[in-house]
Amino acid sequence: MIADADSVPEPAIVPVDEMCMICGLGGPVKPITGTNGVFSASFTTDPELDAGDGVCWRCEYLAGQMDYRRYHWVATSDGIEVIKERPELIDVLLDPPEGPWMVQYKDGSDFLTVLNGWIVAQRLNTSRQHYRMLVDKHTVGIDRQEFAEMVAFGRDLRSREDAPSKRSLIHGPTAGDLSRYDIGRDEYRHLTNDLAGREDWRIAVQLID
Ligand SMILES: [Zn+2]
Repeated sequence: MIADADSVPEPAIVPVDEMCMICGLGGPVKPITGTNGVFSASFTTDPELDAGDGVCWRCEYLAGQMDYRRYHWVATSDGIEVIKERPELIDVLLDPPEGPWMVQYKDGSDFLTVLNGWIVAQRLNTSRQHYRMLVDKHTVGIDRQEFAEMVAFGRDLRSREDAPSKRSLIHGPTAGDLSRYDIGRDEYRHLTNDLAGREDWRIAVQLID
């Protein structure tokens, strides 16, 4: 999808139908390593790859685009937008694009993780209310309304004079946190019973200030 949006040309010569080890699509592929391959001979992620014959031109293109590995991005059939600022990603998540789309939240850093994510990311979102976000190599379900409430709740807590740390929000406040930070009794219950440990909540907290 990204390669299509970026208008990456298909190779002119289309040989026998082979299968890509990253995206699983059929078509011409290149060997994965070696002098004429996509990755250097020191590339050691072969066990993480799917069955197949090599890497297709789309995935070869993606592997060379450092921005798609380093940053968040949102892709639609109209194009792909690299997102470097956290508030911009919140805007996308609270007001997703129309039509088929996907979004990646950049969590880790190594290429293997991102590559795994591309293997996982075979499904496009079609809903703007309930969708999946690619978070490195797994997907996290997002309910837009609920996510909006999480962002508002987190921002409210973080705007206080004795604002709770992000750690205490993500993992749930300890007894010590309660005496140190401005957290109400109902808020503590909500954090502990409903939110702690949830991936969508963790991401909401990481994205707010
Ligand atoms: Zn591919």
